[in-house]
Amino acid sequence: MKLLQGKVAVITGASRGIGRAIALRFAAEGANIAFSDLNYDDNCIALEKELAALGVKGKGYASDASSFEASEKFIDEVVKDFGTVDILVNNAGITRDQLLMRMSETDWDLVIKVNLKSAFNLTKAVQKIMLKTRSGSIINMSSVVGVSGNAGQSNYSASKAGLIGFTKSIAQELGSRNIRCNAIAPGFIETDMTAKLPDDIRTEWIKGIPLRRGGKPEDVANTCVFLASDLSSYVSGQVINVCGGMLM
Ligand code: NAP
Repeated sequence: MKLLQGKVAVITGASRGIGRAIALRFAAEGANIAFSDLNYDDNCIALEKELAALGVKGKGYASDASSFEASEKFIDEVVKDFGTVDILVNNAGITRDQLLMRMSETDWDLVIKVNLKSAFNLTKAVQKIMLKTRSGSIINMSSVVGVSGNAGQSNYSASKAGLIGFTKSIAQELGSRNIRCNAIAPGFIETDMTAKLPDDIRTEWIKGIPLRRGGKPEDVANTCVFLASDLSSYVSGQVINVCGGMLM
């Protein structure tokens, strides 16, 4: 029996990077996948095909996770198409890095809205369903810099720290209904997000990682499978660092 056989998983921001790896890993464990992205583009179509090849139902939706109305509509459509939601991964995230001195109000607001408010939007929309079924696993994609902070990322770090507080609060609110909520704090993972970094900064980051390499999206996806499945049935309100030992 596969670990997520027949479960319905919602993943935000899954056309690329970590979200995409989670979708494929969940599908390999038998889960049906509803994923969102800002735009329904070629990456979404390609992912749908890969999911179908794995023998599960997979569908992409154009939905801005930072919008409350769009998120409600997205989950309503998922329930129509898939019947229920068992797992939610709040993965969508962006960076707008800048020292505070140069950071605009627009970039502060946007990062908080996409990275933090999105988790509120989606969690609120799925909780009605999970409360009825009295089960569920919610996973929030935080970051090591949400714990440690990072110069030049005050907006991003604040959003990721906020997700940790949100995770622990939701774990306390919904635990009695058998709904678990955990966070993953990835370190330096090789995706488009980190590909933007200049070489000298990448080299510096890698030097600070005991395993001396960046992580792969699959490293995060494997931890996600653990948190989504019954393997972690007694784990809630936790933050798991997936960072090669960068943060201890
Ligand atoms: P990525 O490669 O930049 O992919 C981000 C995904 O989120 C894309 O599919 C993007 O869609 C989607 N997205 C962006 N804004 C959205 C919105 N408003 N609504 C819906 N989808 C949206 O990023 P990643 O590296 O895979 O990161 C995934 C998550 O892990 C993020 O929350 C990030 O903060 C976190 N994380 C990453 C690292 C790392 O080292 N990579 C480390 C720590 C934490 P489009 O394709 O349409 O742009």
